[in-house]
Amino acid sequence: MIYLDANATTPVDPAVLEAMLPYLREQYANPSASYAGGRRVRRAIEQARGQVAALLGAGAEEIVFTSGGTESINAVHASVRALWPEKPELIITGTEHAAVLESANRWESQGGRVVTAPVHPDGRVDLDALRKLVRPGITALVSIMWANNETGVIAPMDEIVALAHGAGALVHTDAVQAVGKMHLDVRATPVDFLSLSGHKLHAPKGIGALYLSQRARFAPLLVGGGQENERRGGTENVPGIVALGKAAALAAEHLADGTKARIKTMRDRFEHLVHAALPEVRVHGYPTHRLPTTSFICLPETDAAGMLILLDKEGIACSAGSACHTGTLHASHVLEAMGVCPRDAACTLRFSFSRFNTKADAEAAAHAVIECARKMREAQGCEFAVLSH
Ligand code: PLP
Repeated sequence: MIYLDANATTPVDPAVLEAMLPYLREQYANPSASYAGGRRVRRAIEQARGQVAALLGAGAEEIVFTSGGTESINAVHASVRALWPEKPELIITGTEHAAVLESANRWESQGGRVVTAPVHPDGRVDLDALRKLVRPGITALVSIMWANNETGVIAPMDEIVALAHGAGALVHTDAVQAVGKMHLDVRATPVDFLSLSGHKLHAPKGIGALYLSQRARFAPLLVGGGQENERRGGTENVPGIVALGKAAALAAEHLADGTKARIKTMRDRFEHLVHAALPEVRVHGYPTHRLPTTSFICLPETDAAGMLILLDKEGIACSAGSACHTGTLHASHVLEAMGVCPRDAACTLRFSFSRFNTKADAEAAAHAVIECARKMREAQGCEFAVLSH
């Protein structure tokens, strides 16, 4: 299999697995225990906290471990709603992940108001519109993702923070897709809250973290034994935490060593080959402010659901720009928010690369896409030319 669905989840790095194994085997003590075994495990948690903090430019005391991106996001929204009841508004965009959209629905069902800021056709938030929407004394929180999971489009976070803070609103960013794939520094871009997830950066599923700026007040979503300095109750997922720490340390190394450029080269090679053979192909999203890992492409006159089946037969794992719910194909809400017509959304596929891919993967995938598109169009009797490659 050629795995090109890294935005859905990533393979666990063997070094991450190695790092966590002792905490599944012999280092099983409860980190709250006062004896030596417990203290050893506690030290491992604190080391991991430092590793995650270092990746973000944060202080270790600003990191809380959670079960993943969804929990972190829900925790921030619930906390802000509870602590600032006099400010009813939450601002999001229409391209947010379901975890933000559903959490926003809950905000509304609890008496708050949710305002959706428009995005440009390239997927970036319309800053002029956002500026008008953020209202002093009314807007409690602006919650906008740092990088989009479908398009890879990177938000203008400096500007978002400046205009939200200028109106006295807090900023949360869903950075699940951004962390480890681009340089982030919460000192330089002073968001108040940031959510991240282990399984998007080569750690296992079910572990994540929340950056809580020391400036921001926070009321925990989960209360219990007072773990995580009273910010997240529940016995810590020690193997997961150690894994996330190691994954963060590796991500920091790879951000510094040219891995990002290598991934971008393979992604660009993929797009170049596909485009050379199928010139009508369009890449969704802002061309330059885009994660180097992601290619979200519209192949006109090819049904994405059918393409997924053909590509699967060729051993290529990727995703579509539409999801099948109860037998009906729904256009991606991200593309919808960007004003892409349902017909193009139904022809859209997402290929997402990681450091475990090679240039050969990119080339094989491009050739498979070209071949499958040709087959599909032949079957549909479509007149688009397919150039040889
Ligand atoms: N936010 C984004 C942008 C994501 O891509 C995902 C996962 O698909 C999540 C949030 C949810 O993260 P998790 O799976 O860790 O709950």
